[in-house]
Amino acid sequence: MCGGRSSSEYSDAAFVNGRPLGYASSVTKKTGFDVVVIGGGPSGMTAAYFAAKAGADVLLVDSRPSPGEKILLSGGGRCNVLPVSVGPEAYVTDSSPHSLRKILLSWPLEEVRGFLEGPIGLRLIEQKRTGKVFPAGSGGGAEVRDAFIKAIRRTGVKVRGKCRVVDVLPDERRRVVVESGPGIVASHVVVATGGMSYPKTGSTGFGFEIAQRLGHSLIPPYPALVLLYGGTPAHHGLAGLSLPVRLSTGDGNQRTSSVGDFLFTHRGYSGPVVLNAAHAIARWGRAKAAPAAPAMSPRPALRVSWLDRSASDWESVLAPGPGTVRTALSEALPGRLGDVLLDELDLHEAEKSTLRRDDRARILKALSDYELPIRRAGGFGEAEVTGGGVPLGEVLPRTLGSRLVPTVFFCGEVLDAFGPIGGHNFLWAFVTGRLAGSGAASG
Ligand SMILES: Cc1cc2nc3c(=O)[nH]c(=O)nc-3n(C[C@H](O)[C@H](O)[C@H](O)COP(=O)(O)OP(=O)(O)OC[C@H]3O[C@@H](n4cnc5c(N)ncnc54)[C@H](O)[C@@H]3O)c2cc1C
Repeated sequence: MCGGRSSSEYSDAAFVNGRPLGYASSVTKKTGFDVVVIGGGPSGMTAAYFAAKAGADVLLVDSRPSPGEKILLSGGGRCNVLPVSVGPEAYVTDSSPHSLRKILLSWPLEEVRGFLEGPIGLRLIEQKRTGKVFPAGSGGGAEVRDAFIKAIRRTGVKVRGKCRVVDVLPDERRRVVVESGPGIVASHVVVATGGMSYPKTGSTGFGFEIAQRLGHSLIPPYPALVLLYGGTPAHHGLAGLSLPVRLSTGDGNQRTSSVGDFLFTHRGYSGPVVLNAAHAIARWGRAKAAPAAPAMSPRPALRVSWLDRSASDWESVLAPGPGTVRTALSEALPGRLGDVLLDELDLHEAEKSTLRRDDRARILKALSDYELPIRRAGGFGEAEVTGGGVPLGEVLPRTLGSRLVPTVFFCGEVLDAFGPIGGHNFLWAFVTGRLAGSGAASG
């Protein structure tokens, strides 16, 4: 049973550092919490911390046995907690970029880092080459998760695992309805239930459901930071090959591009640069699958410039001279990629000295503007984050309180924004968690 309030919670929630908290002015009358945080991911734990620090009596509940399961998987287990620099333009939202900027920049990166290294008690190191920040010890995600749990407990937050919330009824006293046991009395509720990615970690999209039940609209969720399926058998034969590329999407002034590592896999493409761009394909797939899909634009193309070299950079490699094109490429491109590209153009045996102008142009295009044969983006089960969610315009930017239901607050991935690989999503979770927790405590 996870509902109601246990007797131990009455007694130890009533005083922290010798001072009464929230409702606790009359301990005997107390039947609930000032703030109930639903979801113990990085955003929920941060919200709980700041609500308790502001003097609220806080309960954090999570449907999993203990909070922060996704943190354990993060960064391949190493847990990339922050980026070394932040740019709001790198984030993706269907809401106003202005709202996103205001929220994201409400807590400067150095201060977020100070919070992790101070009250949370983590030691952090920067990886200059990748621009990522990790915990310095060998514990990775477990180190981060455990430090957070300890810190929120120290602040007086009550934590209940195996406690699935099934509804939020803002007009009821017992407004947090749980799967088993009586509902939990709460003055304010923070919804920090994450998105829909990796649902086995507890993030099943419940927050989206609740937001809609409370009257909010929803930017339809889609998988993001996810691998792409597609390619030819020859591409699959290159599985494991990784190289830096420039990857571009869109055309004209809609064209965006970024540089990073690209990885061939047995079933498609991965690597940071692919994950960062994959939402373009996922969003297109989501729109196509919608019941009343409008006339669809063609699937967005992802174009690769191998090694981030332009056509003119490659011209010198193909300059007329002795030897085959294949040999020239093998000196510039890693692995068997040059062979695969030449096979696709049926130019495997081409000699540099006799290369026709149109064939040279085709090779240059394959090297600098190669359209990836993509079938589809991976699903929520494989996506590191969920795009879409509660529109940023439907929450107050200073507190993340619902504009429709003043006692409810949202933070983390349930909101309509995500950032690229590199610690940007934890940063979003911390920043929004702080706003929502402080907002709920003073609401
Ligand atoms: C494999 C992987 C690797 C990643 N690596 C990184 C990385 O290195 N750096 C980075 O910045 N980001 C990374 N991310 C993304 C990052 O983990 C998420 O963006 C972040 O965890 C979102 O935080 P959150 O608090 O919003 O939600 P979540 O972490 O998803 O937490 C939501 C919590 O709510 C609970 N919950 C849900 N529904 C209910 C309910 N009905 N009742 C009670 N509890 C409920 C869940 O059990 C869960 O604990 C990674 C993600 C994945 C999947």
